[in-house]
Amino acid sequence: MSDAAIAATLRGMQSCYGNPSSLYEIGQIAKEELERARAQIAACLGAQPREITFTSGGSEADNQAILSAAALGAKRGKKHIVSTAFEHHAVLHTLKKLEKQGYEITLLDVHENGIVLPEEVAAAIREDTCLVSVMYANNEIGTIQPIREIGQICRERGVLFHTDAVQAVGHIPVDVVEDHIDLLSLSAHKFHGPKGIGVLYARKGVLLTSLIEGGAQERGKRAGTENLPAILGMAAALKESCDKMSAVAARLLPLRERLIAGLSAIPYSELNGDRERRLPSNVNFCFEGIEGESLLLLLDDRGVSASSGSACTSGSLDPSHVLLAIGRPHEVAHGSLRLSIGEDITEEEVDKIVRAVREVVEYLRGMSPFWRDLTEGKRKHLFAE
Ligand SMILES: *Cc1c(COP(=O)(O)O)cnc(C)c1O
Repeated sequence: MSDAAIAATLRGMQSCYGNPSSLYEIGQIAKEELERARAQIAACLGAQPREITFTSGGSEADNQAILSAAALGAKRGKKHIVSTAFEHHAVLHTLKKLEKQGYEITLLDVHENGIVLPEEVAAAIREDTCLVSVMYANNEIGTIQPIREIGQICRERGVLFHTDAVQAVGHIPVDVVEDHIDLLSLSAHKFHGPKGIGVLYARKGVLLTSLIEGGAQERGKRAGTENLPAILGMAAALKESCDKMSAVAARLLPLRERLIAGLSAIPYSELNGDRERRLPSNVNFCFEGIEGESLLLLLDDRGVSASSGSACTSGSLDPSHVLLAIGRPHEVAHGSLRLSIGEDITEEEVDKIVRAVREVVEYLRGMSPFWRDLTEGKRKHLFAE
């Protein structure tokens, strides 16, 4: 967490302990803080304060956005939803649930570069489409989607548009009005804020369905006493991330390029996702003849905290659905490495990471029967040397 976010969270714990729903003075002070945070977050997105609903994070916001749009669609006999094959599981599993309830789901191809084509979104929209949901930036391979074009298409066709912007907000410019977004999810811990807090933006007039019944908090759309310390921490983190966004991006880009160049020099390796249209902090590679899990454990020993696929699926042995969606075969999808560089990383640290990955990859290949088959020509290489 950033210092600003920690300070704001502490303030929420120490000096605004009142319940924002109570009428006594300390409650009203807490209420003012809550509304100030809401206005600050809205301003960062180009939204109105009343369009901001606090949730427990990105997953809840994704669930509520999709279930709300689905409920609105059902009222008008529209039960078709368009999304993509490489969404976060908070989106994909919610769509699976709707499919069992009789909705029809079209998952668009994301192609080899991990980018959705707006014309394919347009072609997938039907008379009975009630929602298009396309993520702003992918959480594994960092590719940035043509959100503004997709938003424009949806607006023209009268279809609600949701974007899971958890990876984008605080990192690249996002404006709900200019991007024609009806529903947007974000999560504080992806921009140096606290965990367990997020936002669902819903454009004025888009009626939300509550997932949690109870009191009248959040205009009746999300019951339960607000997590004020986390909300204040999130608002402070977002303000800071948005203020220094362009400076951080300018600093990270050459370092990201240095990391990509260093890892590309390892034989039989390939970058995953579009080279240019990706988050300034994201690097994702596949290495032939490597088991992702051993790679991560050995890198951890050398002080590199990497992941293979997403943090949410690290416990499972299935290859990443994102890498399969961009056409990587199972055997290389298993050998993937995802690195997210922080804004304070140095050139020396990048070089240290490249050295560590190179050595660990060589070591693991040295004891892999699969790699021996490749070098002896019993199997064909998938990547160029
Ligand atoms: C992290 C993430 C989520 C889930 O957010 P939580 O706050 O952990 O629930 C959803 N979508 C994307 C793209 C993410 O990166």
